[in-house]
Amino acid sequence: MTAEPPPREKAIRAFVALPLPDTLRPAVAETIRRLTPSLPGVRFVRDEGVHVTLRFLGWTRADTIAALEAPLRAAAAACPPLDVAVRGLGTFPERGRPRVLWLGLGVPRAAAALQAACERAAVGAGFEPETRSFHPHLTLGRWGDRARRLPLPDVDLGSAPVRELVLYRSELRPSGSIYTPLAVFPLGGAPAPLG
Ligand code: ATP
Ligand code: MG
Repeated sequence: MTAEPPPREKAIRAFVALPLPDTLRPAVAETIRRLTPSLPGVRFVRDEGVHVTLRFLGWTRADTIAALEAPLRAAAAACPPLDVAVRGLGTFPERGRPRVLWLGLGVPRAAAALQAACERAAVGAGFEPETRSFHPHLTLGRWGDRARRLPLPDVDLGSAPVRELVLYRSELRPSGSIYTPLAVFPLGGAPAPLG
C-alpha cells in the first residue's frame, strides 16, 4: 500500500494495462492458491485483478484521464491482438531481498510497440517519462519486511490472446487494491469477435 495521500485535484489513481485473458484466470488463481502456504511472507493480489501494467500513471486529474483516451484508443487500434504465454515465476529484484513475486509473460514484439505508444501518450498528456525498461509480468504478490528467498516451483499456464487495452482506476485498500476499468480500447481497432 502506498501511504502518501493524493495531491489536491489529482483525484484518480490510474494505470494502463493489458487484462489477463479470462481463459488463463483459473490457472492463475490456482497458482496463487498453491503458492500461498509455501510463501507465508507474501501478500498475494486478488486473482480477479491480475493484469500486465504497460504504463503506471499514479494520482491524476480527471481531465488528464480524459485527454489520454484518444491517444490510447489509437495505440490500441494500431496493435494486433496479442498472444501472451504465461510461464515461470520470478522476483523483483532478482537478487537480494525480494519485494515482488511475478509470473513471467512471453509477449510478441507488438506488445513492446504498444507499451511504447502508451508511454508516448502519457508523456504527451504531461506525465514524466518512465526511465525503467519494460519487463512484462503479472504481479502475484508482494513481500512485507520479513522477506525470505525460497525456491519457486516451475509453472507453465499456457497462452491466450489479449484483445483489449484498458485504462484502470486503482483504489488502494489494505486488503488489496481494487482495479476498475475507466475505458476499454479494442486491439486492432475492431471489437473482439464473438466466441
Ligand atoms: P498496492 O500499492 O496497494 O500494493 P498496487 O501496487 O497493485 O497495490 P497501485 O500502486 O495503484 O496498486 O499500482 C497499480 C499498478 O501499477 C500495479 O500493477 C503496480 O505494480 C503498478 N505500479 C505501481 N507503482 C508503479 C510505479 N512506480 N512504476 C511502475 N508501475 C507501478
Ligand atoms: Mg503500488
